[in-house]
Amino acid sequence: MRCMRLSISSQGNFVVSAPKWYPIFLINSFLEEKSQWIWEKLKNINFDSILEKNKNNKAEYKRKKELARKTIKERLNFFNQHYGFIFNRVSIKNQKTCWGSCSQKGNLNFNYKIINLSERERDYVIVHELCHLRELNHSKNFWNLVAEKFPDYKEIRKKIKKLEN
Ligand SMILES: [Zn+2]
Repeated sequence: MRCMRLSISSQGNFVVSAPKWYPIFLINSFLEEKSQWIWEKLKNINFDSILEKNKNNKAEYKRKKELARKTIKERLNFFNQHYGFIFNRVSIKNQKTCWGSCSQKGNLNFNYKIINLSERERDYVIVHELCHLRELNHSKNFWNLVAEKFPDYKEIRKKIKKLEN
């Protein structure tokens, strides 16, 4: 029975998968067994092209993040003409788990990927976090605030729920 698996990512990283309980000496001997295969793979990896790709990805990320920052600030100010809440810092992040969040200190965080949503969905996320400045919960009062600008928030929410916070 073989519980381990060795794979190589497009980034040139080797990954050994094994059950949590697997003894480390068995993992080591498995890697030794595979050393020829590892050398073969290493020879064929084009590290220059990986570096180049990473550089391009980084530049692309930076560009998107700046675009997100500009758009989000604009939209925040636009909607806050209606709400008139006070917020502290606005951060644009690469969050894996949510579209946005609001801290007790009144800091707003947004996932830069919200610029990939439709305009209405993006604006909803912005208004959602904006309303947390007044109600740091998902109470009836909170949803009433959101509904002032997004009476159809339930439908939008359903669509983007996966990452919402
Ligand atoms: Zn929320």
